[in-house]
Amino acid sequence: MWLRDGGRCQWPVASGGICGSTTRVEFDHIVPLARGGSSTVGGLRLLCRRHNFIHAEQTYGREHMARFVSRAGLSERPEGNGSTLAGMGGGEAEATGPTFEGATEFT
Ligand SMILES: [Zn+2]
Repeated sequence: MWLRDGGRCQWPVASGGICGSTTRVEFDHIVPLARGGSSTVGGLRLLCRRHNFIHAEQTYGREHMARFVSRAGLSERPEGNGSTLAGMGGGEAEATGPTFEGATEFT
């Protein structure tokens, strides 16, 4: 398989032939497994990382790929919420004591 493709990116280029890049070449499912593709040699080809990404973008659509980007942004939100909640919780716990003491002083 690797030898068959010469370890080169099999991505067809506009100028004819293939990309032929040997940089960061990865196996690519011509038909994604999610769409009934197979992992057999016939269902695989070699693509460089760049073309692998382009193929994925074409297969799943830019919105899907953009979801990965936005997911990276979302992953920061839970951390933000968590720290905010923790801060509020800690703030309430800390505030309860002093406030109560303050209240007793006022009384
Ligand atoms: Zn390529």
